[in-house]
Amino acid sequence: MITLKSNREIETIRRGGKITADVLTELMQAARPGVTTRELDSMAEHGIRQRGGVPTFKGYRGFPASICASVNDEVVHGIPGSYVLRDGDLLSIDIGTTYEGFVSDSAVTVPVGDVSASARRLLAVTQECLMIGVAAAKENAYVGDIGAAVQEHAESNGFGVVRELVGHGVGREMHEEPNVPNYGRRGSGAKIRRGLVIAIEPMITQGAPGVVIQKDGWTVVTADGKLAAHFEHTIAVTQEGPKILTLRELGEHPAVEQFREAGALSR
Ligand code: MG
Ligand code: MG
Repeated sequence: MITLKSNREIETIRRGGKITADVLTELMQAARPGVTTRELDSMAEHGIRQRGGVPTFKGYRGFPASICASVNDEVVHGIPGSYVLRDGDLLSIDIGTTYEGFVSDSAVTVPVGDVSASARRLLAVTQECLMIGVAAAKENAYVGDIGAAVQEHAESNGFGVVRELVGHGVGREMHEEPNVPNYGRRGSGAKIRRGLVIAIEPMITQGAPGVVIQKDGWTVVTADGKLAAHFEHTIAVTQEGPKILTLRELGEHPAVEQFREAGALSR
């Protein structure tokens, strides 16, 4: 069952989403050659707790850390550890905050130092996929419209769309209904209603879309060893259209301007 959120609940998620966004911004700035993913994780946990939130991921189904840190061919769910970031790496950081009982969930992929032109193109297209997906999340549209739009943009650029992992409803639980695939058919899936809060999170590959899970039971990598990227925002469907609840000060795509808060939610 899909649980729609009141304006008041959406506003709570937006306030928690600001914690998620601000901490993620700090991590993006800290992701440089020589830094370990464990150091970024410590920084994330401290940053979330200092702002009055709880790291949602820590302990979730036994996950040991506050962020997922996935490097290069790792798509998602990488466990932070002793890995030292190197010039040329792509680092995906996924982070969730629980604040006043509600979750917000966001992710970015950042270049560490100088990355190849082809890696930069993968990042650009994946971030565009997120923006296009958010734009499709309109009242009276269908969840399938989001996936269809994301898939078209990724595949028309020659990239792959991961099928095994999908976006999701967000609320008191990190993963609620509905599933929000990054592929599909227009007009399929649940109808999008006002008050729907979902995480849209394209996971896009440079090569084939197939993935495998590593022996640690968590880390998802591309089967062909090629690069992957992941961008995610928690958004709410409102009468004014989709609103991004995890908007950052840094590193957003210019198209984000159309989704900026217009002050329409209740205070
Ligand atoms: Mg996430
Ligand atoms: Mg998510």
